[in-house]
Amino acid sequence: MKITVHGAGGGEVTGSCYLVQTRDANVIVDCGMFQGTRKLDNHNHIPQRGAFTKLNAVILTHAHLDHTGRLPLLTRAGYDGPLYATPATTDIADLILKDSAHLQQADLERKNRRRKQQNLEPLEPLYTQEDVDKLNRLYRPLRYDHRTEVAPGISVRAVEAGHMLGSVSLEMTVEEGGAKKVVVFSGDLGPRGAPLHRDPVPFEHADYVFMESTYGDRDHKPLAETAIETRKVVKKAIEAKGKILVPTFAVGRTQLLLYLLAGAFQKRTMSPFPIFIDSPMGIKATKIYGKHTDLFDAEALAMMKSGELHAHLKTVKFCPTADDSRALNHHPGPCMIMAGAGMCTGGRILHHFKHNLSSPETTVLIVGYQGHGSLGRMLVDGKKSVNIMGQKVAVRASVHTFGGLSGHAGQTDLLRWLKSFAKSRPHVFLTHGEERARKPLGKIIKDRFNLRVEYPGHKETIEI
Ligand SMILES: [Zn+2]
Repeated sequence: MKITVHGAGGGEVTGSCYLVQTRDANVIVDCGMFQGTRKLDNHNHIPQRGAFTKLNAVILTHAHLDHTGRLPLLTRAGYDGPLYATPATTDIADLILKDSAHLQQADLERKNRRRKQQNLEPLEPLYTQEDVDKLNRLYRPLRYDHRTEVAPGISVRAVEAGHMLGSVSLEMTVEEGGAKKVVVFSGDLGPRGAPLHRDPVPFEHADYVFMESTYGDRDHKPLAETAIETRKVVKKAIEAKGKILVPTFAVGRTQLLLYLLAGAFQKRTMSPFPIFIDSPMGIKATKIYGKHTDLFDAEALAMMKSGELHAHLKTVKFCPTADDSRALNHHPGPCMIMAGAGMCTGGRILHHFKHNLSSPETTVLIVGYQGHGSLGRMLVDGKKSVNIMGQKVAVRASVHTFGGLSGHAGQTDLLRWLKSFAKSRPHVFLTHGEERARKPLGKIIKDRFNLRVEYPGHKETIEI
């Protein structure tokens, strides 16, 4: 058996893709997009020769773009085999990939207008909506805690990864020439005890494990620590009849925040106030969450079944159209507006910032990571004035960071996950982490569990 790391190796955190090859079959686990710098954009292709043209199956760990973004390139290249994913992953991947195709199209049109002026050939899109649509008939349901035969001699068992709705870790059993090997793929692992999602389920035995290491060098701030402070900030803003602007990623953070607010309303630590989901994608994602409530943790499930969840979210209103969004400019406070983009790099949140940042009654609530150079980072850094859509806007709003909502396990939880099956002495391959994160994690794994640890590079092949 050979396993080649076609992404998220060599210190990268995007583009997750493993190719597993035996004498009888070729399968891939995840097919993610490389995100970030332009250099990485050049990686966004599918090999046109070799095993990739003879795939028996594709298996997905979860729906995030860095694990699914190159799937339409497979259908574009003619792949029509099965695509195994949990039903929630299928629904969310379709939403995320359609959005990705749409954004690429808009970006390309802009670039090509400029290229036309310079008499340059127009650029081709990486993939189109049609390529995304073609994926729909390939999806096959991957059931939790169930063994699925995916190719001759290769079967997988999927268990909860706790990272996002529908996420799984995979235990792959590979039989070749009378020998049987177990390879575990962690996928992205979630933190233990996080609200709404179930905890990651560990394994008992593995010969090899490909493990993510995004936060291998640190632990997150505990959610409970910042939740109390955030509640005070929100309460104060509501009493001052201000607007609370929350730049959010449409999938995950939006629903998590709604769940936490419902809990606060239920416990009467806060009185209900109007909440607007001003994001077409956020609305669709919230509906997908509503369809897969069986994946919620016990507390959220109980709240859902008793009807309390809906009852306490009565003040939530959806704003699907641009007109709905514009109408919020004249809506008096107090209210909360959740809108994209998560890092304030575009989207409807910019319009709300333009109208409200200069008002001292406004509160900006940061719930996710803000990359270097992003508008969100400038606000976190306390800039007194920012440029929004070519206009200088004074910042008089207060800015508060609500930490602890990460979908990734910190160092302690990663080690705890591995500990449960470390006794079976798996050979560990650390991926999906920058060097500064995976190297310290690897050192602890070696010292604590006395296991062999390796750090595969991009396109490195491991012979097993
Ligand atoms: Zn992920």
